Amino acid sequence: MKVGNESFYSFLNKNRDYFFQTHRELCLIPAPSRHEDARAEYCREWLEKNGADGVYIDEAKNVVFPFRCEGSDRLTVVNAHTDTVFPEGTPLCFSDDGDIIRCPGVGDDTGCLAVMLFAAKFLVEEDFRPDGGILFVCNSCEEGLGNLFGIRRICEDYSGRIARHISIDADYGEVFDRCVGSHRYEVTVTTEGGHSFGDFGKKNAIAEAAAIISRIYRLNVPQVPGTRTTYNVGTVSGGTSVNTIAQKASFLCEYRSDDVGCLEIMKSAFGNIFDEARAEGVRLDVRLVGDRPCANGADRREIDRMADLYSDIVRQVAGVGTVRKSASTDCNIPLSLGIPSVCIGSMISGGTHTTEEWLKKDSLPAGLEIVVKFLAGITKG
Ligand SMILES: [Zn+2]
Repeated sequence: MKVGNESFYSFLNKNRDYFFQTHRELCLIPAPSRHEDARAEYCREWLEKNGADGVYIDEAKNVVFPFRCEGSDRLTVVNAHTDTVFPEGTPLCFSDDGDIIRCPGVGDDTGCLAVMLFAAKFLVEEDFRPDGGILFVCNSCEEGLGNLFGIRRICEDYSGRIARHISIDADYGEVFDRCVGSHRYEVTVTTEGGHSFGDFGKKNAIAEAAAIISRIYRLNVPQVPGTRTTYNVGTVSGGTSVNTIAQKASFLCEYRSDDVGCLEIMKSAFGNIFDEARAEGVRLDVRLVGDRPCANGADRREIDRMADLYSDIVRQVAGVGTVRKSASTDCNIPLSLGIPSVCIGSMISGGTHTTEEWLKKDSLPAGLEIVVKFLAGITKG
């Protein structure tokens, strides 16, 4: 079934104000990772009010709307994440000058979340019959140390029934058809410490941590053509006072790669550095705080089919080309399980992950048109 332009535009005209109002209301509900409760409740009520049957919130705080999914083991899962990077208490100052909307989280991923809700509403009202059913998910824990907890839960609960997965979490003009895997660690060094003068010569936790960090920065990343591998030490803290030999120091570090083999090489390289430090008598506690797997065996033809169709629709609706990229998104989990998956966009935004985040207002209706036509096209029988 092809979505007719006429029915879409009459839907859009009727719902334009409601669309922006819903987006605004979502923006004003704080939703740090693992604290998405209020947003989840809003989405559940919204979907029910707009004709969705069988909506539920699971234990991971995902809002799930199975649309014609009964008995199907060829589901299309589509998600937009509810969480933002902004901690509780961040002022959510919303402004709309008719051209640009500003608010922390206005784009990532609240813009796409509003688009997905209205795409679901449209397909319900159209009495659309997707081949294999569509599982709409307003999911939790995409950002940072949320560690993809929400999408992991969906892949577990619907194990063996998912034919493909689509995450809406970007600007249109980009499609992420490859994923970047990563491991993140919190490393804590503990020493005996002491007085800086009286105990001079005893091991200093900050100096030991610095030595480990220096070793990390002497690593050469694997150079495999067509792949990219990186590492980073992101934060460091520790010590007591200027005249105390530091007893404790810790840092957060990560490595990333879009290749499963390179990620393994980095894992053993980091492991060796930690083992060497221990062998030298450093007391080290290494905690894995993030684990985003690489792709593993997903059908490339289906990924290309989705990326190609999406690019065609973006060109037709918005008149722009699309760039194919790799990133770390909800797609990591289905891709690591061999499920074809792409991350697509439905807006034009900027200042992502900053309090100056902005969104081009007229990009949202265009994004809705793109998503509706894409979902209809990808699930046509
Ligand atoms: Zn996002």
